[in-house]
Amino acid sequence: MSGPAHTDVEVAIVGGGMVGASLALALAGSGRRVALIEAVVADAAEQPSFDDRTSALGNGSRRIFEALGVWQHLQPHAGPVREIRVSDAGHFGAARLSAAEQGLDALGYVVSNRHIGAALWRQLAAHPEILVRCPARVLEVQLGAEEVQLSVRAGASDQAGAQVAQVADAERLSARVVVAADGAQSLVRSAAGISAMVEDYQQVAVVVHVATDRPATGIAYERFTSTGPLAVLPLADGRYTVVWTVAPERATRLLALADAAFVDELQRCFGWRVGRIVRAGARASYPLRLSRADGLTGARAVLVGNAAQALHPVAGQGFNLGLRDAALLAEVLAAAPDPGAPAVLEDYERRRGTDRRGMIGFTDGLVKLFASERPFVAAARGAGLLLFDIAPAAKRALSRLSWGFGGDSPRLMRGLPAGEP
Ligand SMILES: Cc1cc2nc3c(=O)[nH]c(=O)nc-3n(C[C@H](O)[C@H](O)[C@H](O)COP(=O)(O)OP(=O)(O)OC[C@H]3O[C@@H](n4cnc5c(N)ncnc54)[C@H](O)[C@@H]3O)c2cc1C
Repeated sequence: MSGPAHTDVEVAIVGGGMVGASLALALAGSGRRVALIEAVVADAAEQPSFDDRTSALGNGSRRIFEALGVWQHLQPHAGPVREIRVSDAGHFGAARLSAAEQGLDALGYVVSNRHIGAALWRQLAAHPEILVRCPARVLEVQLGAEEVQLSVRAGASDQAGAQVAQVADAERLSARVVVAADGAQSLVRSAAGISAMVEDYQQVAVVVHVATDRPATGIAYERFTSTGPLAVLPLADGRYTVVWTVAPERATRLLALADAAFVDELQRCFGWRVGRIVRAGARASYPLRLSRADGLTGARAVLVGNAAQALHPVAGQGFNLGLRDAALLAEVLAAAPDPGAPAVLEDYERRRGTDRRGMIGFTDGLVKLFASERPFVAAARGAGLLLFDIAPAAKRALSRLSWGFGGDSPRLMRGLPAGEP
């Protein structure tokens, strides 16, 4: 009787969602033997990363996707953001940021996660040198001083991760390093003994696409309300995507409303800036938490994307930050003689520090600043928005966030390959 199959690679990436699939592509052509293990096929309705949400991609992410050959598939579906208008419900003060004033074509691009998934996996198919296991779930990770052992079971699983169709015995996969790209509840992070700080914002994002009687023309709106921010972002097809952050009880009520009543309530809360809302699509909801791993590395294990940090979507930065994790990690892993050596992984952690700390602090600070109803804070906020509106340097600084919060800029973001064989 034959035992379970055994495969040997250098880099095993667990999770082929937005960040893991990007990392695999960034390592393609580097000469590294890479395996990508993803539990749910990219076009399945239950795929947790490539669902009906949209992502606002900054210019830095666009540059990385161009270098990976992904942007050409995405561009037809990407709604450019040419202006952002920010307001504070019930208080004075408003600000606008325009791409033209910054000398840019766009401040960013709004794309559905389904299109991102399709583009990433289409590009992965052009790289047969990447060993792909999908649908296949990593069940167990054992970290050692010289290598990592993974137990991988092929077959589909349901949303909760339970295997619904097992097609083979578990495969044993060994690697010099394992990358946790398996999201906020990362199995790899736990196996590596890395703890994470989790703060529940007591907010839920209700996400929905809407059609209006005036098609979207590249203006994005961010309206801060006492319960949380309400973002209305332009899509390439003339509709808008709405990310409406509310208290959990209100989210439950909003999700239960009939379409017409939901549209009425949204229109009341947001006003008439985009014209009349004529139709709303299916609603989805996401409880919002900040999750921040206490470190990015363990013995032959390293974290990227949501496994490293999951942010509030207020500034649309979570994936942009995760993509920079992937771009820089690919560069570090491609260049090292032993990609799992402690010094290599520490180098990645050190070089991601400034961007990661800055973006987590910026996002968390924004949530808390605009959630406060204390009169002094509300007044300072209004004054801040007014000042921002007339301060070119502040606008320049904000539009530069598209490239990260500082620190090392990955080679891919400069249009260079992450590594060569
Ligand atoms: C409402 C909302 C709006 C957002 N908007 C934006 C935005 O505009 N811009 C932006 O930059 N970011 C945004 N984000 C954040 C962004 O969605 C995340 O940063 C991004 O999804 C992280 O991707 P990831 O690949 O790290 O993790 P995930 O998306 O969680 O993917 C993890 C993958 O790992 C797989 N997996 C898990 N466990 C295993 C296992 N054991 N074996 C095999 N596979 C496994 C899963 O199936 C999944 O495909 C938003 C988030 C929310 C909630």
